[in-house]
Amino acid sequence: MLTDVVENRFRLQDAQKKALARLKIVTIQDLLYHFPHRYENAGDQKTVEGLVAGTDAILYGTLRKPETRRAWKSKRPMSEAWLEDGTGRVKLMWFNQPYIAKMYQDGFMVKVSGRVEGKGSLYIANPEVERVAELPLGSEGTIFQTESDDGDIFAFYPESRGITSRWFRHAIAKVLSNREVIDEINEVLPEYILTAYKLPELQKALVWIHQPKKKEHATAARKRFSFEDIFLIQLARHRDRLATEKQKTYSIPKAKVHADVFLQTLPFTLTNGQKSAVDAILSDIETAPAMSRLLEGDVGSGKTVVAAAAAYAVVKTPPTERPSATLQVAYMAPTEILAEQHFKSFIELFNHLPIQIGLITSSGCKKYPSKVNNTESTKISKTQLLKWVKNGEIAVLIGTHSLIQKTIQFRDLGLVIIDEQHRFGTHQRQVLTQKDNLLPHLLSMTATPIPRTLALTLYGDLDLTILDEMPPGRKPIITNIVSKTGRTAMYTAVRRELDAGRQAYVICPRIDEPDPKKVETLQTKSVLAEAHKLKTKEFSGYRVEVLHGQMKPKEKEATMQALLNHEIDILVATSVVEVGVNVPNATVIIIEGAERFGLAQLHQLRGRVVRSNHQAYCYALTSEGNTTTRLKAFTKAKNGFELAEMDLKIRGPGELYGRSQSGLTDLGMEALKNLKMVEIARTEAQALASNDPTLRKYPVLKTALQHKMDKIHFE
Ligand code: ADP
Ligand code: MG
Repeated sequence: MLTDVVENRFRLQDAQKKALARLKIVTIQDLLYHFPHRYENAGDQKTVEGLVAGTDAILYGTLRKPETRRAWKSKRPMSEAWLEDGTGRVKLMWFNQPYIAKMYQDGFMVKVSGRVEGKGSLYIANPEVERVAELPLGSEGTIFQTESDDGDIFAFYPESRGITSRWFRHAIAKVLSNREVIDEINEVLPEYILTAYKLPELQKALVWIHQPKKKEHATAARKRFSFEDIFLIQLARHRDRLATEKQKTYSIPKAKVHADVFLQTLPFTLTNGQKSAVDAILSDIETAPAMSRLLEGDVGSGKTVVAAAAAYAVVKTPPTERPSATLQVAYMAPTEILAEQHFKSFIELFNHLPIQIGLITSSGCKKYPSKVNNTESTKISKTQLLKWVKNGEIAVLIGTHSLIQKTIQFRDLGLVIIDEQHRFGTHQRQVLTQKDNLLPHLLSMTATPIPRTLALTLYGDLDLTILDEMPPGRKPIITNIVSKTGRTAMYTAVRRELDAGRQAYVICPRIDEPDPKKVETLQTKSVLAEAHKLKTKEFSGYRVEVLHGQMKPKEKEATMQALLNHEIDILVATSVVEVGVNVPNATVIIIEGAERFGLAQLHQLRGRVVRSNHQAYCYALTSEGNTTTRLKAFTKAKNGFELAEMDLKIRGPGELYGRSQSGLTDLGMEALKNLKMVEIARTEAQALASNDPTLRKYPVLKTALQHKMDKIHFE
């Protein structure tokens, strides 16, 4: 029963079938694990008939005739509309908010909540409005009783094209009313965990989450499922981790001694954050098991030097069998330009030390030092490079994805460094590890600010080091929140920067669309329109170019190269494009529609202009009347982590990290706000993974884990 296919058990229309497929609901079990996102109690809700001044009301109905007008006495602009339900209509008024009327259209189905006011004729003052895909049962005048006889709490399921919340409510009710199905449900979590943390058992929790009789039941059930989600992911990560720890690795016994030699050559001293990162890494690589570490730090926080110190220690160490040779390092970057930049940085950092460095991208290969001139690099053929990598002559190989090819064989790969690819780090290490060889150490690096709970969960198999301090002497970016009226002055200021020889980015707004393909198209359109406007109006005479996700990789690279060569003054780009390149001469970033971005994303965008020796500026444009607390926080925050944590609190984790990328359910995402729960799940997962790595005693858990991991890979 549980494994029956939903399509075979219910008569479905094509649109419903498509919607279920999109939601990855195949079996009855999947259906039962499709959870409501909110509940409503009939008692909270009112109809227009029976409203009383001085009370709060939640109303559902159709919005009518939204319009702006001037207030009677003050003459200030305001919005007005009507809300109509089956029992009558009531006026809605928003004072000093003329834009509200423009945001909603006549005929929208909405949920409205606010204070009922007025003498004689009633109205709702400054109500909150939310568009809804369906009206709740009974809001057309007949109140709930007709539809249900088992309580007053109604579950609402996330909206999705082609399928209603109501369909889910009915289908799930039908499944749950079948005793045989319920009997088939076996507990996933070990009993001792349920007992220890007072979590409801699975059968009960499923009923409680879909058909709670009391709100506390829904709460308890949701807690259980969020725990389950986090626990399963952590369990998978810890099992991976244990498997990794069993593998033999290279030891770098004198790592500290070597790294010190390198660090002495630097023209600066390390920040405290860098020092502890280097210490942690060096002790990791000195002995087995192999290092698996994630280094998180804002752009410019100095991750490269930390990685270089580790790389130096590794290449100064001979493999046990070949005392005159050296261990090797592979360094993978997300784009060609970045690989090229790392190649240059490493040459600079190591130029007084005899180390051979190679570069491999799809555009070709290079080697340093060149035979003729030992201060320069030279182009070489791929065949030649691969030969030198294979015989161990090239100690450090830097590259893009081209690094991960079957044809590339290292002689003794001791360390893998991966930049901005943390999701794949452990996987790529496995690919790079040649059969029968020892497992290389792994250092994964990212400038994406991730809150601690998310890092502990998704990267539970990695140790975490955070660099939350910038090298001294940096000029902080000046961040301005700009409203409509500030535009002209902003453009004048930007022109001044351009005339002084600097360059600028303009990031076009993110577009809220459920369909990611559509987002790209819409964003591309907005980029093209904005570029055209700037080119013909505010910045005529300047070189304006575009960058967006629908360009080919080669075109993107060429555009970034042109920006780097200062053949472009202004680059208009979407936010989906990773502008992961440092263009030190770019000192200005304009972010349109800033209120639509998460704080962490805004911070990352701002990081594009952090490289310069010149004063850098960020302009965050907002159409909202008032500067929100969020945007204020953005102007003040010291680092990305602060903002990521704030984002998590204010907007929830979905904003930070696409759900599909993480494999977390919405409930699991919610749980990330709860550090204590994440830590408990981690402790329990660690304990179970080491006590019973094959989950021999927990076959149901094992199957559930497999099912979840399959789903993640699927995405
Ligand atoms: P990240 O890779 O974290 O974005 P980088 O490692 O590229 O940052 O460092 C940015 C710049 O700061 C580089 O020019 C680097 O030489 C410099 N830098 C790094 N650490 C320090 C330090 N402790 N003091 C001064 N400058 C530093
Ligand atoms: Mg870097």
